[in-house]
Amino acid sequence: MVELLAPAGDFKSLNAALNSGADAVYLGLSKWNMRSTSKNFSMENIEEAIKIAHDYDSKIYLTTNTILKDEDIEKIAKLLPKLNDYDLDALIISDLGLIDSVNENSLDIHISIQENITNSYTLNILKKLGVKRAILSRELSLSDIKEIAKKSPIETEIFIHGAMCMAISGRCFLSSYFHKKSANCGECLQPCRYDWNFSKLDIDSNENLTNNMHKFDGFEFNEFILEKSVDETYKSHFLSPYDLSMIEHIPELMKSKVDSFKIEGRRRSADYVSIVTETYREAIDNYMSFGKNSYKFNEKWDENLKKVFNRGYDTGFYFNSPFKTSNNNKSKYFKKDIGIVVNYYSKISVAEIKLFDDLVIGDEIIIQGNTTGSFNQILNSMKVNGKPVKIAKKGMNVTIKIDNFVRKNDNIYKLIKKNI
Ligand code: SF4
Repeated sequence: MVELLAPAGDFKSLNAALNSGADAVYLGLSKWNMRSTSKNFSMENIEEAIKIAHDYDSKIYLTTNTILKDEDIEKIAKLLPKLNDYDLDALIISDLGLIDSVNENSLDIHISIQENITNSYTLNILKKLGVKRAILSRELSLSDIKEIAKKSPIETEIFIHGAMCMAISGRCFLSSYFHKKSANCGECLQPCRYDWNFSKLDIDSNENLTNNMHKFDGFEFNEFILEKSVDETYKSHFLSPYDLSMIEHIPELMKSKVDSFKIEGRRRSADYVSIVTETYREAIDNYMSFGKNSYKFNEKWDENLKKVFNRGYDTGFYFNSPFKTSNNNKSKYFKKDIGIVVNYYSKISVAEIKLFDDLVIGDEIIIQGNTTGSFNQILNSMKVNGKPVKIAKKGMNVTIKIDNFVRKNDNIYKLIKKNI
């Protein structure tokens, strides 16, 4: 059975992932991971996160996949006995310098996508080093992946959904150059998503013209400037790829013999984690129940994925090279903060909600909280002062029958379709 592996940057997303059917969740360890600018988990709350996941029979993997210096390796090595005591399921590493210490502490090792593994020969070597799993390079085609997974002596994992980077696995200096924040140390501020202006240097006004002229192979040409665009007319986001989505290709992926399907997005919101995880869960379960002959793609899955943040979807390198670029969120929806749970009556599954905005029967709401995670619900009925109403106004307290268990102080959002 293939594993569905979801991201979490905080407890809301962790619970959202687990409630939505993730078999495993990966988290970042403080500053030593490729999303060091997101909230991440401290050693204190990693223990709690592992307990919560194990209660769901799910696993927790911890990433430490940035560039590490000697002092970083030594500091991480000191944390390993504790992580073993906490019953961590695996450590995701990219620096082979950590392998001895991780093996000494009997923790499972997963090799990060940062290692950019593109062949089975590397997997054979990793097996000898005691590695349990390798995450294959994002730049492989589906046929390459099938070939490698077939020969692999260890487990393999692939990214199936989420943001793509125009540089190979973060090997990029844009963020360092513009913001002094290193992508390879997990601090990328994503300047590749900007709109860029590509303009020729002004020859007449440029006093240092000779310094900007280049000769190559007998040709003489000017230097061009690449700058963040402030002009609406001349701009391009040519460095920003569409996001990856393989939802339409679950049967091909299922036949690949890959062990784990991974969703990108430790910086994404809990509702994003919830919807994307739930959608892939349904598609995978559907394939498992009906098999390749009776499996049917459900248009609803595509619609769901378009509800959350996305830059437009593409299949990355699976079938071709990605060529579509976009810097904008192409989701047709946005979410508005419209209330908070002030009471929850668990025996009758009813929540009392204080409204900051109007609510109408038929609205789709999102309920989110640290322990609740995140889930969506269409509003079929509600009451004000015990009487059924079709519209509830800002400032009112409404009671709503809720599909899942919620908690006091959970946030309520309304999903609103954009006027595009
Ligand atoms: S700036 Fe863009 S391309 Fe470069 S590492 Fe960051 S996300 Fe990737």
